[in-house]
Amino acid sequence: MTAPAAAVRGSAAVPLPYRVVRRDEETADTVTLALEPAGEGLEPFRPGQFAMVYAFGRGEVPVSVSGVERGGSGGRRGERLLHTVRAVGAVSAGLHGLRPGDGVGVRGPYGTGWEPAAAEGGDVLVVAGGLGLAPLRPLVRELLARPERYGRRSVLLGARTPADLLYREQVRAWSAAEGLLVGAAVDRPGPGWDGDVGTVVALLGRARFHPPDTAAFVCGPEVMMRATARELVHRGVPAHRIRVSLERTMHCGTGHCGHCQLGPVLLCRDGPVLGWDRAGPLLGVREL
Ligand SMILES: Cc1cc2nc3c(=O)[nH]c(=O)nc-3n(C[C@H](O)[C@H](O)[C@H](O)COP(=O)(O)OP(=O)(O)OC[C@H]3O[C@@H](n4cnc5c(N)ncnc54)[C@H](O)[C@@H]3O)c2cc1C
Repeated sequence: MTAPAAAVRGSAAVPLPYRVVRRDEETADTVTLALEPAGEGLEPFRPGQFAMVYAFGRGEVPVSVSGVERGGSGGRRGERLLHTVRAVGAVSAGLHGLRPGDGVGVRGPYGTGWEPAAAEGGDVLVVAGGLGLAPLRPLVRELLARPERYGRRSVLLGARTPADLLYREQVRAWSAAEGLLVGAAVDRPGPGWDGDVGTVVALLGRARFHPPDTAAFVCGPEVMMRATARELVHRGVPAHRIRVSLERTMHCGTGHCGHCQLGPVLLCRDGPVLGWDRAGPLLGVREL
């Protein structure tokens, strides 16, 4: 028996048609695509959640939502989704090559989010390495939109080179925002770079925070998240108040296929955002 069309349309496993309405080059290998639903779109995404994005004829990959915009058709299901994509293989290169007017399939929202409500009333640290800033950008926007809800707020960014820093114009604007400390460090400086050289972990010394009431949101390469989380724990931030976003191969996105299993955790369903109290012990197990 065929399921009624409406039920299939609303199902988390069926991609909805979206089209590219804008393509912004971020770095040499990374673009941000603004996707508008062709009809009614998906349910709203919370900061930190991801979508499965289908490049027709190539395949489907998980991509975080790096922002939302009010779309042409308006309404909560007419939102434009922003996805920042680095070309690393066949599918991501296919998405990277899309141009305004091209179509994609999108399903979601999937996974746990950053859940900034748990950070209210305390100091907040956002720590991003490279492309890790993409899923954190909606959270930074929340911190900027509602400063009265949080204590001292810091955004610390790391990248390989100055040319790899994402959203440079926006980061400049964040630096000018009252009460938000923004720091950036690169591994290898280039001409004109007068910021820090080194790892993002070293920037923690500059941020002002009261460790027991601090919430930290960390995303980047695993080695960077591990070093950051360990330093924060060392400084007295409770492990459960440090949230990291983990990446593993994902196929279904709905907790069925098992590709993203990490010990007892299915990252598409129980993650990608996890507290360090859960993530730390799992990342410490070799070959898991
Ligand atoms: C929850 C989640 C959110 C994600 N959000 C984003 C996002 O916002 N933007 C984005 O560009 N990517 C994101 N990714 C990663 C993205 O899904 C992969 O880059 C993509 O699946 C690679 O598929 P592919 O077919 O292009 O390359 P593949 O053929 O699968 O891989 C090509 C090569 O790239 C390597 N590779 C695969 N994934 C990565 C990676 N993440 N980083 C570096 N090398 C990799 C592989 O090991 C392989 O050597 C996310 C992944 C997860 C799990």
